[in-house]
Amino acid sequence: MASIISRTRLTLLSFLVPTFVLAQDFDHGYIDPTPILAAASAAIGEDRLSCISISGTAYSGKVGQQYINAYEVDWPRGEPLRNYTRVIDFENVRMIETFDREPGNNPASWKYGLGWYGGTPIQAEDRQIFSLNGQYAWHQDGSNGAPIAARPLDAERWQLDMWLTPHGFLKAARLPGANPVAAWRWELGEMGRDGATVNPEKVTIVSITLLGKYRVDATINSENLLQRIHTWVPDAVIGDTNFEHEFSNADYIDIGDRVRFPTNWHHHTGWDDNYQAQSVNAGHNAFGGRQADIVANECPGEVAVPTNVRNADFSENVEVQTLADGVYLFGGSSHNSVVVEFEDYIAVVEAPLYEARNLAVIDEIAERIPNKPIRFLINTHQHHDHIGGLRTYMHIGATIITHWKNYDFYTKDVLNYSQRTLDPDMVSLWPPTELAEGYQYEVVRENYALTDGDRIMQLSYVHPLGHVEGMLVAYLPEEKLLIEADLFDATTSMLPAEATAANRTLYNHVQRLDLDVETIVPIHGQPTPWDDFANLIN
Ligand SMILES: [Zn+2]
Ligand SMILES: [Zn+2]
Repeated sequence: MASIISRTRLTLLSFLVPTFVLAQDFDHGYIDPTPILAAASAAIGEDRLSCISISGTAYSGKVGQQYINAYEVDWPRGEPLRNYTRVIDFENVRMIETFDREPGNNPASWKYGLGWYGGTPIQAEDRQIFSLNGQYAWHQDGSNGAPIAARPLDAERWQLDMWLTPHGFLKAARLPGANPVAAWRWELGEMGRDGATVNPEKVTIVSITLLGKYRVDATINSENLLQRIHTWVPDAVIGDTNFEHEFSNADYIDIGDRVRFPTNWHHHTGWDDNYQAQSVNAGHNAFGGRQADIVANECPGEVAVPTNVRNADFSENVEVQTLADGVYLFGGSSHNSVVVEFEDYIAVVEAPLYEARNLAVIDEIAERIPNKPIRFLINTHQHHDHIGGLRTYMHIGATIITHWKNYDFYTKDVLNYSQRTLDPDMVSLWPPTELAEGYQYEVVRENYALTDGDRIMQLSYVHPLGHVEGMLVAYLPEEKLLIEADLFDATTSMLPAEATAANRTLYNHVQRLDLDVETIVPIHGQPTPWDDFANLIN
């Protein structure tokens, strides 16, 4: 009898134990990622591919450079990327991307997606080379161009671009710390990719962690193909930003040895939010194209990290020039800020680039003019390379003065309480009460003046021009200074041979308002005598 009882108990135990373990391993809503990853790997021959070379053509979207940021549904389309090639070595984390692009229109280090702000001069050569080796990334303008180190967050994003490929994702799922988890759902499809899908398809989503902080997920369909690989990347303007590559089943081609790879690339930076349901800004298409020339197991070679890239110093360089009594140009970067001291407060024109730049400028202001509040931040226009520090100025208590056409975008998408998890800024860490109170703006329609009774600064709206809508310039009549962004750049000592449409707009604006300007103070480049500029126009 006794032996029978104990056997029964054993049977019960062996039946119960696995059930108990399963319940522990996978919470409600979750499933085992192991067989899903194995099936996806087998479907595309993941284990037989260590390197890949893809070639074709591509397009790029100018992220953050819309004409009107509110109510436009996409980023403006950039110059075509011709002779596009990408060569990846997954195991050694190396990648080289090359393409030809029309010079003269882009910051040289801008690839596509984010990173438009660069910090480098305008692209001079056709050929562009972007290299990655582990944590290091760099850019060359022309085949013999000097290597320029990518900022660490850009280097991480370029590396993510490598892992956000079907084979890359499956390999990354095995890296230490990836910790894959899986879930299932019925997907109704994406209109742009699949047309109006009627029948829902059961898909699985496998999510992994990369570089210790990026949550990357792949949607794997009923044919075990990765159709969407998605993550979030940090951005100074809009915070944690949607970043995804999409592939349709038809894109996958056989490249030999039972390896399959997609030929069409479709990339989003930002949400494909055509109805502007979540955000005012709906820019999303940032890269895409057809790279049908695919070679399996062709590797990029050594990709040796240049010494200057390995030792690159990204600390902010702030150089101060006195323009007049109490008026200073804070330069030393690709974008200037102009500091104007009033009796009881300080006003700053422009909060460009990203938070680190603005914190360095603010610390320098506080050192030179201690114990006077920075009361106002004047913003020229909404292009992302000119607003990456708006939140930083809000953090230190400044009121933002901008054209009214930028108000919706700034309120909803930029100056909000949304958590920024990947690269938290000051407002995200210490949200100030003013955000909820709503008194952080002054909006300008045509004209606005700041004065202490002695000094005066006049702001005026520059009527519609090709570059952007909602542009302000600042004029100091006593000092005869005109502060402007992007209407005239003086980044080289040589004046250009021919005036641009934006130059003419600036000239006409000054004539119409009858401003007596002696010196133009550009956000890009050096102060320039008005007469030199006027000679360019006439
Ligand atoms: Zn601009
Ligand atoms: Zn600019």
